[in-house]
Amino acid sequence: MQSAPGSESSPNSTSATGITPWLGSQLQKIIDNIYEKYKDVDDGTVATYIPELGKANPKDFGICLATVEGQVFTAGDWENEFTIQSMCKPFAFQLALEQHGTEKTLKHVGVEPSGEAFNSIELDQRSGRPFNPMVNAGAIAVASLIKQSPVDAGVEAFVARMGKAAGRELRIDQSVLASETATGNRNRAIAYLLLNAGIIDEEVQQSLHQYFAQCSMLVNCKDLAMMAATMANIGNQPVTGEPVFDFQNLKYVMAVMFSCGLYDYAGNWAFEVGLPAKSGVSGGIFGVVNRQLGIAVYSPRLDAQGNSVRGILACKELASHFGLHAFDFSNVGSSFMQWLL
Ligand code: GLN
Repeated sequence: MQSAPGSESSPNSTSATGITPWLGSQLQKIIDNIYEKYKDVDDGTVATYIPELGKANPKDFGICLATVEGQVFTAGDWENEFTIQSMCKPFAFQLALEQHGTEKTLKHVGVEPSGEAFNSIELDQRSGRPFNPMVNAGAIAVASLIKQSPVDAGVEAFVARMGKAAGRELRIDQSVLASETATGNRNRAIAYLLLNAGIIDEEVQQSLHQYFAQCSMLVNCKDLAMMAATMANIGNQPVTGEPVFDFQNLKYVMAVMFSCGLYDYAGNWAFEVGLPAKSGVSGGIFGVVNRQLGIAVYSPRLDAQGNSVRGILACKELASHFGLHAFDFSNVGSSFMQWLL
């Protein structure tokens, strides 16, 4: 349990240029402790419905925090790559908002939590649209909006933009893409439901390819934390300084992540962790502490809702330790490290 703010003194403090070495070493210790505490938790199972995902090592557990000043703190298997899966959804939504604006985008997808599983074959009865861009139906509608002709151009544009946010070139895992394409009949059913409802155009295969390819992009914890830190840093990549995302739309994306990012666990997540976040069936979770941090955890054992078991435990602990919850009295917007002072 941490002490009250300001009750202990420290040799250093945060500054406009980032976290000082002393604070950095404290932060590193805390991440190392969280890694040690949860690394042997073996509840949950690795997803196998996409056969290639079943090859993941259930022992893998990586953590990364990236500050908006570009400092990075890591633990465990943070370098191991995994496919981004549903964690591509907020970024794709951002691109749709940038390209088409709010009004047009929201004709194709809503912003209401569904309370249903990520792969539910269902539209919002009242609006006739997918509930939100974080469930598969909404993400396929978004993929249809950002696809290009030829279809590979849209995929390349997505991967290139994600690489700018991560700060390194990213690529598609072709084996996972082939595996998703071969077994994705449920997503095909969703896409045809969307076609029938007039939400997507007739290029159903292209929309599905855009979606499957986005999900099959490889990242590690550092990439994801940097992508999250780019969101936290009003769209500017913390290390390169490059403007990557239009900041006007990020608030919409983070709002939907906050209310819908963890599927049918989203309410609990908002209550306990209180951060805009997104999970994926590969076992990753990333969260954004606005104006402060990007957080990413990877561990492929999933709970019944399809969220990483160790990922949720680690995020809960990080959030409570540093008072990161959006509505925590200690979250004053730019100085979470005050807890260590
Ligand atoms: N590609 C996966 C699917 O469509 C993504 C799901 C997820 O990560 N929850 O089933």
